[in-house]
Amino acid sequence: MDLRRISVILLILSFKLGLSSGSVELFKEDHNRVIGKYLEVLEDAQDQLSPEQALRSKKYEKKNLKVPNLGFTTRAFWVRFNLENHWADTFFALQINQSLLDKVTLYEYSDKGDLLSETTLGEFSDLNKRPFKDQYLIFNTYLKKKEKKTYLLKIVSGEQILLPLQVSTIQQALERNRNRDILFGIYFGIIFVMMAYNFFLYFSVRDISYLYYVVYIFFVGFAQACLEGYTLKYMWPDNFWIASRSVYFATSLVCVSSILFMRNFLHTKEYTPKLEILFRFIYISFILCVIANSIVVNKFTHNLTQIAVGLVSFTLLFTSLNVYRKGYRPAKYFLIAWIVLIVGVFIFVLKDAGIIEANVLTTYTMQIGSAIEVILLSLALADRINILKKEKEETQAEILRITSEQNVILEEKVKQRTLELEHMNEELEVTLQHLKETESQLLMVEKMASLGQLTAGIAHEINNPINFVSANIKPLGMDIADLLDVLRKYEEISVSPDIFNSKIEEINSFKEEIDLPYLQEEIKTLLSGIEDGAKRTAEIVKGLKNFSHLDESDIKMANINSGIESTLVLLRSSIPPNINIELHLGEIPEIECYPGKLNQVFMNIMNNAVQAMEKIPDRKDHTLSIRSFLFENLVAVSFEDTGIGMTKEVKDKIFDPFFTTKDVGEGTGLGMSIVFGIIESHKGRIEIESEPGKGAKFTLYLPLMMARTANKEVVNVEEN
Ligand code: ADP
Ligand code: MG
Repeated sequence: MDLRRISVILLILSFKLGLSSGSVELFKEDHNRVIGKYLEVLEDAQDQLSPEQALRSKKYEKKNLKVPNLGFTTRAFWVRFNLENHWADTFFALQINQSLLDKVTLYEYSDKGDLLSETTLGEFSDLNKRPFKDQYLIFNTYLKKKEKKTYLLKIVSGEQILLPLQVSTIQQALERNRNRDILFGIYFGIIFVMMAYNFFLYFSVRDISYLYYVVYIFFVGFAQACLEGYTLKYMWPDNFWIASRSVYFATSLVCVSSILFMRNFLHTKEYTPKLEILFRFIYISFILCVIANSIVVNKFTHNLTQIAVGLVSFTLLFTSLNVYRKGYRPAKYFLIAWIVLIVGVFIFVLKDAGIIEANVLTTYTMQIGSAIEVILLSLALADRINILKKEKEETQAEILRITSEQNVILEEKVKQRTLELEHMNEELEVTLQHLKETESQLLMVEKMASLGQLTAGIAHEINNPINFVSANIKPLGMDIADLLDVLRKYEEISVSPDIFNSKIEEINSFKEEIDLPYLQEEIKTLLSGIEDGAKRTAEIVKGLKNFSHLDESDIKMANINSGIESTLVLLRSSIPPNINIELHLGEIPEIECYPGKLNQVFMNIMNNAVQAMEKIPDRKDHTLSIRSFLFENLVAVSFEDTGIGMTKEVKDKIFDPFFTTKDVGEGTGLGMSIVFGIIESHKGRIEIESEPGKGAKFTLYLPLMMARTANKEVVNVEEN
């Protein structure tokens, strides 16, 4: 921080102290006299005065300040004062306690006005070539006892000129400067330790704040070194360009890094987001300052920097106060640190103004303040660790609290859900029950439908043979009556022998009349007709009986062929004439099965085939070819029709219950799902080949034995 510059503002406001005049009278007791009040100042704006002219000018002004502030000049200032030695013959040191002046020339005049010597020092001059290798400007002058000399200082500087001029013996001056070096050594030591400490903290905590802080205090130290001329002494003793600008650059760096550090440390983005624009503005203004100072150092660039520094001081205080008010604890340290620094600066200013006594403590209050500031900020950073720890603990506690709360809520929710699920489960069970009931009802319906079809078939089938019987009964009765007449006539013969012959004749003529041979033939045919009708009726009844195994749940050994035949018998009547049935029943062994159920399978498949073929009524040569054969230890039955066929979509869904492409009343969509269920219960499988318009082929494969275990429900696929 450019504290000395802040002090300038305060100095201007400070008291103007009592007048002084005449010579500085030096006594033995005097140590390190600051002679600001004795100085007369003359501005030589055009830099045209010769030392002689300057010496005799009447235009001198007294500043009456312990440390006169000469302000700016584009050219030169002349400062005049007298020294009067009341001590012994001594070499005195005339020391300007600052290093920032560009060029200072001391003209030494005797009491009578003769020029005795001329010495030039300052940033312009190579420090290594000075009589005293110190960053401060030290002139020496020899005064005999009672001797009085007049001195003229010509000061040329681009910067603001402060003139802390001190007179002492050379030894005192050197001692003073050594003490100063020791104190600054301590100061830089503190800075260095704090830098190292925070640097290591950065590596262990990985909080970027520490790094910002390290950068910040590095620049603070650097700025102090520039201000006090240590950089001039050790780094660029003969580089005038950088020597005259280093303070400005350092000041800018301190300011920018302090804002950077503060923003990071105080989380200003969070706490004072509105100030972000101000910070950006500050950065830009310092970039401008650096550029301006690089080009030229003058009153304008100086003031520019001064204003920017003032803005930063204000911003730091204002922001930290704001953030502190918003409850961020570390802001307190930050605020205190800045206040300490400002108090330090204030004491320094008061000392320079002569209000408080100048001693080692007051001379270096600024550095002390700065050191305390650095330490306090460092403590604040350390406190951050505590805060972070506390925050972490709090967060963990909060997480724990939330978790347990969540757990309670979750448990409650789980309970609720479980209840709901139980309820739903109950509902589902009820629904399932309903569904099962509905399914069995529907199966019933399907069964009834097939039975209805059957009844129609049976009626038609039985009607035909019964007709045979009933139609034959009447002629047979008449034939038998005739025969009985013949017999009665033969009985009459035994009654009277006379009439034997006539009777014989009569009988013979009756025989001729009734055409007995024909009668015999007719009776034979009628009887065979009756026999045939009865046989066929029996066949149908047998088929019906066979088919009525529908509900039978007993496993039997049965031949599939007879099942196909009897199903066909029952179905035949409902098959339209344009459908030709081709039966190719092969030699197949009996298989273990539920015969009634298989009959229903055949019936359903054949029904579908007939329905599919009826969809193309114009075609005359529809065929349903039925084959049975042995296939790799399986009994296979195939039904191939010339119906409308199926798309892949239909094929994929064919076994779904209630899937139908037929109109209401025509199909229930249950037929194939029943087929699937039955074939599955036989451990068999179904293959379907079909394409739209190309008919369909259903092939059933059934194992010879359903299951080898006693438990019929156990399925072992590999075994089959
Ligand atoms: P439904 O006959 O009552 O429609 P199914 O389960 O018996 O029900 O048959 C389902 C569907 O499968 C039928 O609607 C039909 O589209 C199709 N299908 C079954 N067999 C055949 C076949 N032989 N030819 C063409 N489509 C068939
Ligand atoms: Mg069907």
